[in-house]
Amino acid sequence: METKLMTGRFANIIVDISHEKVDRTFQYKIPDALQGKIEVGMAVTIPFGMGNKRIRGYVMELTDKAEYEIEKLKNIEAVIEGAVTAKSDAVRLAWWMKNNYGATMISALKTVLPVKQKMKQVVKRTLRCLVDADTAVMHAREFEAKHQTAKARLMRELGIQPVLPYTLVTGKLNIAPQTIQSLVKAGLVKVEAFDTYRNPMPAAVLQGWQNQGKKELSPNQRAIVEAVTGEYENGIRGTYLIHGVTGSGKTEVYMALIEHVIRMGKQAVMLIPEIALTYQTLLRFYQRFGERVSVMNSRLSAGERSDQCERARRGEIDIIIGPRSALFTPFERLGLVIIDEEHESSYKSETMPKYHAREVAGELCRMKGASLVLGSATPSVETYDKAKRGEITLFTLKERLAGGALPHVYVEDLRVELKEGNRSIFSRRLSALIADRLKKGEQTMLFLNRRGYAGFVSCRACGHVMKCPHCDVSLSEHTDQYRKTSRLVCHYCGYETPNVTLCPKCGSKYILGFRAGTQQIEELLHKEFPSARVLRMDADTTRTKDSYEKLLSAFANEEADILVGTQMIVKGHDFAKVTLVGILAADMSLHANDFRAGERTFQLLTQAAGRAGRGVLAGEVVIQTYQPEHYTIVHAAAQDYEGFFDEEISYRELMSYPPAAHMMAVLVTAADELTGAEHVRELADCARGRFAQEKPAVIGPSSASVGKINDVYRFVFYVKHRDYAVLVAVKDVLEQLVNGKQWNSDSVQFDFNPMRSY
Ligand code: ADP
Ligand code: ZN
Ligand code: ZN
Repeated sequence: METKLMTGRFANIIVDISHEKVDRTFQYKIPDALQGKIEVGMAVTIPFGMGNKRIRGYVMELTDKAEYEIEKLKNIEAVIEGAVTAKSDAVRLAWWMKNNYGATMISALKTVLPVKQKMKQVVKRTLRCLVDADTAVMHAREFEAKHQTAKARLMRELGIQPVLPYTLVTGKLNIAPQTIQSLVKAGLVKVEAFDTYRNPMPAAVLQGWQNQGKKELSPNQRAIVEAVTGEYENGIRGTYLIHGVTGSGKTEVYMALIEHVIRMGKQAVMLIPEIALTYQTLLRFYQRFGERVSVMNSRLSAGERSDQCERARRGEIDIIIGPRSALFTPFERLGLVIIDEEHESSYKSETMPKYHAREVAGELCRMKGASLVLGSATPSVETYDKAKRGEITLFTLKERLAGGALPHVYVEDLRVELKEGNRSIFSRRLSALIADRLKKGEQTMLFLNRRGYAGFVSCRACGHVMKCPHCDVSLSEHTDQYRKTSRLVCHYCGYETPNVTLCPKCGSKYILGFRAGTQQIEELLHKEFPSARVLRMDADTTRTKDSYEKLLSAFANEEADILVGTQMIVKGHDFAKVTLVGILAADMSLHANDFRAGERTFQLLTQAAGRAGRGVLAGEVVIQTYQPEHYTIVHAAAQDYEGFFDEEISYRELMSYPPAAHMMAVLVTAADELTGAEHVRELADCARGRFAQEKPAVIGPSSASVGKINDVYRFVFYVKHRDYAVLVAVKDVLEQLVNGKQWNSDSVQFDFNPMRSY
């Protein structure tokens, strides 16, 4: 279906009900009263169904061609006042998302409309003095003489500052509205009211603004800016990757690029993962661009969000900063999209449509004629592969501009520690270095890598991990609570084998699931280093609002010697006094039952290591592992991205994992276990049977790694093919099957090139 912007007597409308059965347009008549007032993208009220219930719908198309007998068509009832209209661009993007990710049109449409309803603007009032300063002071003296102290106080203040915010007068100056009224009557002051936007930035930041913070670019930075803007001016819209370690000056380059496109009358979207969207980052952009930049994030109120969209729509801002959804800011003149830390998994939506912001940004840029700039210290394998193939222009920034040299890295083999009698969580080198930092009054960060923990089984003596013979991912331990047996299961293909009691490689009986938490580490630190002040940061200690920021600032203020945490601590703030980073169980994330495990481990280790030595003091990093020879550990320790990429891509080629092939996960949920198992088998059979020529590889089905959530059973299978279009075709056929069988459409979800395993 295509969207057309034209007038007509009929409107094709998508109803605001997310269900496969109504995932098509319905035709309505435009009554005379609404002729000329209906546009594509508008929200309207329509009578729907047998009972003519009043529901909301979105106009997708205007036409003069009736699809049914005209007498049978119902009338549009009204245009919804204050509803946000989806521009035809947004509607087109929604269609693209629906087709490429599998979702109902209404859920795609709602995704591209970050705000559905305009909120009333805030009215701001000020008090203006109608006489000059000297006269104001004269009046103040007269009031004082008459002991009218409130009036006197206000006139004195207005003598200094002729315009005052109304709230300041009634608040801080403590002056009653009646007093103000009597001054208004006397013709001394005037109350002025105007609409204002809720600005999410603290006032102090906005007041202090004066295009500060612009740096003279280094030759490397300048080369990037000149290459991109040179192409831009010649009408070339490209995709670019800036590969540079944290602190190499990427953000400075982004700002120079933004400045350039703004000067050409365009607008820019700057995506930053929510967790990295700190006050400091925002401040930097505000200092450079002032009121022309705004922010969008989950902490904004509905009113604030609505106002930012409205400002964007009216062209009153040129830059929006925010996480994934900021992509849908309604900019008319979009010229540039930047995605910082493009490898972050938070750019992938976890709800339908399960889109990736990088891909949607690519499509949006194509539609709008904008350029796309990606940046990362550890680019995703997908992006770097494209750069190597020449589909993306690659730039590299090698040195840190501030914060000193890269740290020295030690790799400690935990198998050797055990053999030589050390059963502690800390290797001997890490213990010694912690003691050294405590003595010197420098800080330590200990990072417990728990990412991807999924019940894998490994040998403490030799490091051997139980893996699936067919998929090369780790097997997960499943314990049956009734029969008290334990099995090992692959969640890609369903392979099963009884659990082992002896290591098949070395015969040791120390083979078991890994269990250690941040709390245990904290206790151990108290035991080994009684004088150390320890802060712990994990899901438990950051449950309340602001606790994350509070913990980090306490550590920044040197209120503790050691910060222990999960992956949360590897991002954000720079701590000048941190000269030691310990990575406990570095290989833990390698055993997630997920083909991206190696990539994620490399990213985590690189980020964690990057925390050391950000000030003037040099840093050291200790990586503790059972697999010092594993390529991700070796290359992370050497800080060698290229080396890592070469090995990772050949593994992906060998196993036909993305980006070597595309992969679609099909997740089936059901309240009844047998029904779910039956449905998933039928769908997988359909995917296998229908495409004899293209031959997509179908893996599974099996029960998902979390087989049941809230009493809902979960099943999954995967489809792989080199051609994305084949997967889309498979998806379409599966959707038809679900529709035809009248299964609950919510019970089947698609995830293209998933960021996680199911
Ligand atoms: P990244 O985004 O790659 O982490 P930043 O742009 O934040 O890097 O730069 C790291 C630090 O170096 C910041 O403090 C920044 O102000 C400073 N910086 C960046 N570019 C320059 C430059 N050309 N001259 C001086 N300092 C710079
Ligand atoms: Zn072993
Ligand atoms: Zn398998």
